[in-house]
Amino acid sequence: MQRSGKFWGGMVVVALLLAAVAWWQRGPIAMAIMQRQVSSLTAMANPLAALPDGLHVGLCGAGSPFPDAQRSGPCTVVVAGKRMFVFDAGSGASRNLALMRLNAGQIEALFLTHFHSDHIDGLGELMMQRWVQGTARQALPVHGPPGLEKVLQGFKDAYALDQTYRTGHHGEAIAPPAGFGGAAQTFSLPADTGRKVLLSEPDLEIVAFRVSHGPVEPAVGYRIRYKDRSLVISGDTSKSAAVQREAMGADLLLHAALSPTILGVVEKGFADAGRSHLAKIMHDVLNYHTTPEEAAEIAKAANVKALVFNHIVPPLPLSALEQNFAKGARQIYQGPLHVGRDGDWFTLLAGSAAVEMGKRP
Ligand SMILES: [Zn+2]
Ligand SMILES: [Zn+2]
Repeated sequence: MQRSGKFWGGMVVVALLLAAVAWWQRGPIAMAIMQRQVSSLTAMANPLAALPDGLHVGLCGAGSPFPDAQRSGPCTVVVAGKRMFVFDAGSGASRNLALMRLNAGQIEALFLTHFHSDHIDGLGELMMQRWVQGTARQALPVHGPPGLEKVLQGFKDAYALDQTYRTGHHGEAIAPPAGFGGAAQTFSLPADTGRKVLLSEPDLEIVAFRVSHGPVEPAVGYRIRYKDRSLVISGDTSKSAAVQREAMGADLLLHAALSPTILGVVEKGFADAGRSHLAKIMHDVLNYHTTPEEAAEIAKAANVKALVFNHIVPPLPLSALEQNFAKGARQIYQGPLHVGRDGDWFTLLAGSAAVEMGKRP
């Protein structure tokens, strides 16, 4: 008994000594860890090459305009085979792509669902990173509904001086002026069908479809198919029959969701603080979003294989609140359901029926 006590006492002393040495040497240790991380990032000029064949989906932003440490502005990255596309560019988009060890220089095209500020406020940064990381010689193709030219021109004007600095400093071989900014690929949706095929190849199809987010008009969602796998991004919408139609039989439904119960807490907080105009905004946003329960009804009716909330309103500062956010939806939709966070990664291998959920491997 006494010997065992001495043994443990000795172990505690050794552990304290080791901790003290680690604390004293924390600078060199941190530098060594950083060198490792940087070399793992920079070694991956083409991170797409290592991905198995299929559809890969990452959340480069799962939040809203509210501050949420785990959720930046809305952004979804889709890798179809070896081709990378981004849907919406909320604030933090390009930083999250880098944290997911993706190379912004490899973005083939960007698709915007609508022009609410939280869906475009990372756009300038994303276009800049794509330009210099990829030494792009052509502007980034950006697809979106009418109004797109105005948005892209605004970013181009705001970044015009920066473009001259970077080309002047690094040279045209590194920062070719023609690769700066975005090239508008504006599309209109036919009034009758409300949908348009934007890209159609044997293995890859991207379709835009109209959703309900008035007064934002038009606002769209997207359906992406690669080989035998498919996913739907709802965009911002109240409960929409179009989302249900497009999601029919899809492998994965990424749906925006707003919890009226949790938002009600925020509304009351603003009202109690005398900030009545913010309380009114909290109330106004209820009518053009979908609740988690409504999204679950769509997922159930469309018989999708998995449902992910990818644009979450309001913030969920405690992880335990994810339970509150999703519990009603779980009673409606029995399949896998996930409350998204930045960095989440979903794998839909070609020729498989599985939807793997996790972090980027
Ligand atoms: Zn919106
Ligand atoms: Zn939004």
